[in-house]
Amino acid sequence: MDQANRLTLLDVGFLSISMEEALTLIRGIIKDDAKETVSFINADCLNISTKDDEYRSILKSQSIVLPDGAGINIGCRMIGERLEANLNGTDLLPELCEVAVEDDFTLYLLGAAPGVASRMQDNLMKKYPGLNVVGEHHGYFDHDEESDRVIAEINAAKPNVVLVAFGAPRQEKWIHKNRSNIDSNLLIGVGGLFDFYSGDKKRAPMWMRKSGLEWMYRLYLEPGRLWRRYIIGNPLFMYRIMRWKRTLNR
Ligand code: UDP
Repeated sequence: MDQANRLTLLDVGFLSISMEEALTLIRGIIKDDAKETVSFINADCLNISTKDDEYRSILKSQSIVLPDGAGINIGCRMIGERLEANLNGTDLLPELCEVAVEDDFTLYLLGAAPGVASRMQDNLMKKYPGLNVVGEHHGYFDHDEESDRVIAEINAAKPNVVLVAFGAPRQEKWIHKNRSNIDSNLLIGVGGLFDFYSGDKKRAPMWMRKSGLEWMYRLYLEPGRLWRRYIIGNPLFMYRIMRWKRTLNR
């Protein structure tokens, strides 16, 4: 990807590309039988990255980091840049399923509570006839002791793409640590995505998504778990961008 498509916020680089370009990139990786990792970042991820050196250096080492959420868009405008598109995993998945059917590549679902990934597998296979989801495993195994067993199951299923849904930064660290043992073209960290596609959690109405207010809907559904992330995290993120911008101008 051209350097011109790359933006940086809080020292983490990411791609400012359209959904179509992202899909072309993904298709190319599979066609070339290459090996890549995709991470999504939102304002919360960047807030975490300022305090978590391991997570930050993983993100900085990856060539495909995609911007997710209104916070990144606002952050870009604060530094005078224009973000091409919001590329969250939830919007990318339907498109990914369509190209998977067209190009005949396979998916594996790893993550979320027991039962969630298999409900999502059923839903996807019903919605996208011909889609080949070759396996699934929940995300609540012992990530230190049982990863080898789970990876053996993934490798036996021979997926082209593995979606890893443990939440950030847990999934990025797990992918980074285990990448070389997993025989797939693409590992994508997708956060809470499975909970939506299994039908367990409702996504925000379209008008809220289009207005960059999806975070508010998630907060409304789970205030106890998410108030810190959004009510404290969003202004803190903007403050961090302002401070970071000053260091750039020095
Ligand atoms: N999760 C998991 N294993 C764990 C911890 C979490 O599979 O050890 C799952 C959890 O069930 C949920 C997802 O990871 O489906 C994290 O969701 P969250 O909404 O926190 O992620 P976000 O999209 O905000 O990063």
